[in-house]
This record gives sequence, structure tokens and C-alpha cells, in this order.
Amino acid sequence: MAPEAAEEMARAQESFFGNPSSPYLEGRAARAALERARQRASALVGCDPAEVFFTGSATEANHLALRSAALADPSRRRVLISAIEHPGVYDQWDDLEGEGISVQEIPVEGSGVLNLEALGALLGPDVAAVSVMTAHNETGVLQPVEEVGRLCARWGVLFHTDAVQALGKVPSPWRTAAPHYLVVAAHKLYGPKGIGALAARKGAPLLPMLRGGGQEGGVRSSTEAVPLAVGFGAACSLALDRLDEAAHMASLRDGLETACVSRHGAAVHGAASPRLPNTSFASFPGLPGADLLSALDARGVAVATGSACHGAGSGLPRVLARMGVESALAGCALRVSLGRATTGDDVESFLEALSESVSEVRSRCHG
Ligand code: PLP
Repeated sequence: MAPEAAEEMARAQESFFGNPSSPYLEGRAARAALERARQRASALVGCDPAEVFFTGSATEANHLALRSAALADPSRRRVLISAIEHPGVYDQWDDLEGEGISVQEIPVEGSGVLNLEALGALLGPDVAAVSVMTAHNETGVLQPVEEVGRLCARWGVLFHTDAVQALGKVPSPWRTAAPHYLVVAAHKLYGPKGIGALAARKGAPLLPMLRGGGQEGGVRSSTEAVPLAVGFGAACSLALDRLDEAAHMASLRDGLETACVSRHGAAVHGAASPRLPNTSFASFPGLPGADLLSALDARGVAVATGSACHGAGSGLPRVLARMGVESALAGCALRVSLGRATTGDDVESFLEALSESVSEVRSRCHG
């Protein structure tokens, strides 16, 4: 977490113990803190504060958005979901079909970018909603959400974008792509875990999943988590101020990748596509990603393979399968994320640890 966000949260924990729905002084103070957090989140998204609904997570916000869009109009019974959505979106497939909605997958190219032609061919007057994320969580590949927004507008289709990985790293697509629903998670932009937000454009249908006290405009009943919202709001303001750090991060990432390719023959997935500045997803041929992960972990370096929960049944990342990466290479994938605090020295230390890890895994595999 950003120290600024942690500090504001700690103060909020002490100062705002009132319930924001209570009419007395403590309640009003908590309400004011909550609304300030909403205003700060809306500034990052680029929407009106009244369009921001706090949720317990991005997963919850993604469910709220997609269900609302899919079930809004009984004359539209098809939903299009990109092949590479996070499971919090993709795994709603069966639930939607259980509600009588026909779900179809929008393919991606080998580059990791959505196939816009295929989307154009799938769209029609019976489509209720399209879900395409702003940036992929493993490859970091930025999706052509502006074009998606234009295509959706042409057919009067509701457009949902999971912007969890993108916000705070690239400018918000709220105005440029005009999604009806945009989802954010605090913990992906140096805020606390356990809070997300749905930005829902005025007039976009909203079907509450939780009923009760009518909080968040009746969209999400539950007493609001004021300290979490305060931390989220602080993180949003910071993220907005620091958007220009992206170029530096991208240059560190590019240097890291160049070394991985030249020293270890790595294949960087989505390398030729526009990407987030902080993410690198590369395969090291012949070296199982899980083994490299363990070897790096032992050297104090935290990396990911495509996580098992993103698997295409085989435990391999669905995104790589859909990009047409053969499974032997997909099994050798490692995802490295840089952050705000990453320095050139960190990259050098990583590359050293990687070289040692590669030698260790290679000798184990082949020796
Ligand atoms: N969407 C994307 C693109 C993500 O990367 C994540 C988290 O990893 C989520 C959604 C889910 O976020 P949360 O764990 O807050 O529900």
C-alpha cells in the first residue's frame, strides 16, 4: 500500500467510527469522508461522483455490472465476453446461461489483442452486453476499448470494461471508450484490499445483488467500509498525480525484457502490442514456470506463473491458449510485475537471481 493511503486509512479508522447512514455528528463525519473518497475515485475514473458505487471487491463489481447489463432487456438475450477476461468475469458464463442468456466468446489475435472483426461479426440487435477488459492482467496487453465502445454504440449494446489493471497506470477510458460500466480495485493501485468500485454511467441499468439497508443508492446494501473507502480514495488521488511515472516504469520493463531475451532466449508474450508499463509475461523455453518461480522465491524474488485459477483446464493460462501459444511454451511462462518503487538496481538484482535460477532449474531438468 502507498504509505499515504495507509496513513489516511489509519486516521479514518480512529476518527470515523460512525455509521455513514446515521444522522448524528459522528455519522455525518463518516458520510463526509465516504463522499470525499467517492469524489476522489470519480476523479481517477473521469466520471461523476454519483456514478461511483463502492463494492467489496472488483469481482463483486464485475458481477454487478455484467448481470445488470445482461438481464436488463428481455429482447436481448446474447452476451459477448472476450476470450481473455479475468475469471471474475469469464466464470459468470454458466450463471448467465442459467438465466437463459446465450454467451459467446470474442476471440483474440496471437498478439493478445481482441479481434475487432470477430466482434463486429458477433454483434447484432439481440446482444445485450459486451465485456472487454481495458488491459490484461497477465500479458498487460491494452485492449482496443475505444473501438469496442464505438461498435457497441452502433448496436445500442451495453459495454462493460474491467479496468482493474489499467487504472492508475494508463489514462482512464471512461470518456474515450464510453463504457456503461467500468470496474476498479483499490489494491491494484496501491490502496487497501477488500474494496472495489463500479462506475456505472447515468441511466445504465443496475440490478442490486445485495438487498437490505439500501446503501450506495440501493445498488449495494451493506454498511459502508469507510476506512477502506478513505484508503481507496487516497490511492486514487495519488495514482492520478503519478500517471506520468509510466514511461520510466516501461523503460525499466523493456530493459528487463531485452536481457531476458538475449541471455535466456525468453519469448515475451504480447511484446509487439501496446501494453501496460509494469507487466512482463515471458516464457523461458524448456524451463517450467513453476520451477523458476520456486527458485526465484528462494532468492527473495516474488514472481507469478499464469496463476492456476486462470487455467484453461490444463492449469495453463487461458490467455496463452487463446493466443495460440503451444502448451509446452505456455508451461514455461513467468509473469514479472514492476511497481512504483522499482529501481534500476532492483532490475539488476532480479536479472542476477534469474540467471542463478535458470542455471539451477536447467541442471535439475537436464542434468
Ligand atoms: N479483474 C482483474 C483484471 C484482476 O486482475 C483482478 C485481480 O486480480 C480482478 C478483476 C479481481 O479483483 P478482486 O480480487 O479485488 O475481486
